[in-house]
Amino acid sequence: MRMSRMFMPTLREVPADAVIKSHQLMLRAGMIRKMASGVYNQLPMGIRVFNKVQKIIREELDKKGCQEILCSALIPAELWKESGRWDVMGDEMIRLKDRNERDFCLGPTHEEVFSDIIRQEINSYKQLPLNLYQIQVKYRDERRPRFGVMRGRSFTMKDAYSFDIDEAGLDKSYQDMYEAYTNIFNRCKLEHSAVQADTGAIGGSVSAEFMVKSEVGEDEIVFCSGCNYAANMEKAVSVNAPSSNEEMKELKEVHTENVHTIEELEEFFNLKKENFAKTLIYVADKKTVAVVVKGNREVNETKVANAIGSVVEFELANETTIKKVTDAEVGFAGPKGIKTDYLFIDREVAEARNLIIGANKTNYHLENANYGRDFEGVVGDFRNVTEGDFCVECGKPLEIARGVEVGHIFKLGTKYSEAMNVNFIDKDGKSKPMVMGCYGIGVERTAAAIVEQHSDENGIIWPLEVAPYHVVVVPVNIKKEDHMENAEKIYKRLQDMGVEVLLDDRDERAGVKFKDSELIGIPMRITVGKDIIDNKVEFKLRRLEEKEIISVDEIEDRIIKEFKENNLSIR
Ligand code: ATP
Ligand code: MG
Repeated sequence: MRMSRMFMPTLREVPADAVIKSHQLMLRAGMIRKMASGVYNQLPMGIRVFNKVQKIIREELDKKGCQEILCSALIPAELWKESGRWDVMGDEMIRLKDRNERDFCLGPTHEEVFSDIIRQEINSYKQLPLNLYQIQVKYRDERRPRFGVMRGRSFTMKDAYSFDIDEAGLDKSYQDMYEAYTNIFNRCKLEHSAVQADTGAIGGSVSAEFMVKSEVGEDEIVFCSGCNYAANMEKAVSVNAPSSNEEMKELKEVHTENVHTIEELEEFFNLKKENFAKTLIYVADKKTVAVVVKGNREVNETKVANAIGSVVEFELANETTIKKVTDAEVGFAGPKGIKTDYLFIDREVAEARNLIIGANKTNYHLENANYGRDFEGVVGDFRNVTEGDFCVECGKPLEIARGVEVGHIFKLGTKYSEAMNVNFIDKDGKSKPMVMGCYGIGVERTAAAIVEQHSDENGIIWPLEVAPYHVVVVPVNIKKEDHMENAEKIYKRLQDMGVEVLLDDRDERAGVKFKDSELIGIPMRITVGKDIIDNKVEFKLRRLEEKEIISVDEIEDRIIKEFKENNLSIR
């Protein structure tokens, strides 16, 4: 491609509303442009990268025997009503009506659609297993679209669904996808790890998220310093603080005028945070919920919502609700006598002795409160892991890092097949529900994660396999005949050998051209300048500082060498 003809609106300045590196660089490199909040259009430099990510995904899935199909993004509500998700998906689902007032949605995910296809066509164990996928635009009205294409309201997803005759079959399908995903993210040159995850609204039992470690990640991941344990914060567990065998002391009411927060309580009682239990109040689909954790802990909202089951809206209660359930001002809630629909007690609170809790009475707390004697509730794990907690698997300290979720694999089991009658006749002649799995990768988010991990102060450094072009040929001065003619020749030769090549034939200063090639991250640059008299050009890799002077005849070999080093072939 001749850069003089190219639609590549690069930007010198960092756009004001882009806070993270990948968002800034994708805008500056002219890859994407915003149309509305969370809605982006993809320009040539962008689509070429996204297509390469898709190519890698297709190749790795096809190797595992998956087959590509393409479903409609417009989905009738009936399918969602059958699975019970029409009401569960909440405001994230974009709903619309047709001219006959029939309900539809723009698919946020496609379990129902794939289930519907399979139940109509497949009826015997002989036709299974099957693993089908599509690469398609998904629509989700995200509460907080942000970070450019990392969290958009329309985005391209590869979603795959496996159908097996039994659990053992599902285990194999899941393992195959695990391997395919590992290969995909390795080929994208993403440093990543697979972590245990919460299964959320999709349902099912086992799931793993493929996480790219990054400061800008929206997820917190818990890693063990001693073993392979890794889990999303939503799901992570740690060893409980040792249970106390102190004698239970007498419950006492203490006047605590204007002492509300844990910090104020610490000062007032001159005690550490772990001597207090704090009570947080939430509203889950109109039901009130109280959760009690020790003062040094944070509530894990996912664990609480899971304990209730299929919660759509979950949020902290407002002042009015708090006053209603506690009969007190905000800051004095406690588990004894609280009037909520649910009361959850973190196991550490249940196993501690003589805690200080809110009295549900303005300006009062209770001293020496004990679970079982003074208050009760559903006991479980309702807290977040804290850095330095101990691993439940090996006892070593846990660490916390931030990550971007680029892929997610789930064992669904028979949740959808039972709800939607996705059955087959087994060897024994009996009808059984198929055992399903589902598997997603965000295409643009993966590309953005690559930018997060592969860039410097001058721009993007694309790994060769996902780069929009492999090589840029830069004539230093297009007005000089020998620069331009030789650049043209090299450009032609590289095109003939199957290299994706740009010719920077713009009438710009060399410095401007170099800056652009660095910003857009082209892996190899060939500069045709004064040395061409001696039949020499400058060869430079984007990822390294050094420049090599090579002879024009060596160019092909030098490029092939680079492909080989990346385990790639040219066509
Ligand atoms: P998140 O927790 O980030 O909202 P999710 O659990 O909703 O993700 P899945 O439903 O598992 O995501 O979707 C599969 C993949 O699609 C994710 O791993 C991610 O790569 C991508 N993805 C999900 N939501 C978005 C979005 N709003 N914008 C871009 N990519 C997304
Ligand atoms: Mg989501």
